[in-house]
Amino acid sequence: MKVIDAHAHLVHRPAGIDHLVESGEFEEVWLMDLSRVGTLECYEMATQDEILEHLRRYPGFFRAFGFVDLDCDSPADIRKLRDLGFCGLKPYKQRKPYGDAGYFPIYEEAQKLGMPILFHTGLIARGGAFSGTGNHAYGSENMRPSQLAGIAEAFPHLPVIAGHLGWPYLNETEQNLYFYANISCDISGYRNCFDRMPALLDRRANDGSGRFFNQKMHFATDQFYGYPGEMERAFKLKHFWELYFELVGGTYYRWGQENERKKFFYENARRIFPTHSETIPRENSPIIS
Ligand SMILES: [Zn+2]
Repeated sequence: MKVIDAHAHLVHRPAGIDHLVESGEFEEVWLMDLSRVGTLECYEMATQDEILEHLRRYPGFFRAFGFVDLDCDSPADIRKLRDLGFCGLKPYKQRKPYGDAGYFPIYEEAQKLGMPILFHTGLIARGGAFSGTGNHAYGSENMRPSQLAGIAEAFPHLPVIAGHLGWPYLNETEQNLYFYANISCDISGYRNCFDRMPALLDRRANDGSGRFFNQKMHFATDQFYGYPGEMERAFKLKHFWELYFELVGGTYYRWGQENERKKFFYENARRIFPTHSETIPRENSPIIS
């Protein structure tokens, strides 16, 4: 089965990328640029040039979401990112809540240019302690899933991807998926809500498209490719989810049926960036269950 890793990162001076590309495990990997964040926990992030170089070196394998500083960047900076080769945007630890209207010109430009935005939601890695000079926010309050609702409403043609399931605000993620046709989420990260996954995947949205939630969730690893052990962990995650969908879902739930499984692993992500050679069923086409 084809698989897209819809949320991952690249580290500075990455090792083993040839192996990742040639492994055949993934059709595509979407890299979230965090170059302007610098070092995150123990990972030194790839520079923007390194990310762009990997796009060129492995055509068709990587897509990249450019880092956007919501507090400083302008719509012109978004156009620059698009011209450099970034196909989407990735904000991180901005100072105000995502839904602040001051950020709307950026979202408006992204919608105009057809650049999806992947917003981290929920539990987040710790940054440095407050020193009076820090230029980022602390905690996950500004990055709550509920912040995405206003953006989805104001920009109905902007694909809004919630990174992760938004733990501990799972109810907000659920409401977003239920109500907004242009909000989807990826399942990478904290898995504390696993007991709720079967019912969550089975829910039907009331967003005008009539999709079930398994059509609004993406497989993703959030691994830091190029750092020792990260690729192996990504493969493990892929195999874990494949088995989960086959052995749990396949026996008891509609989302585990073979034609539904490929939506989670591939088609939902492909719908965001269609290729010319593939036809993915339209969002509002009748549901086959
Ligand atoms: Zn991430």
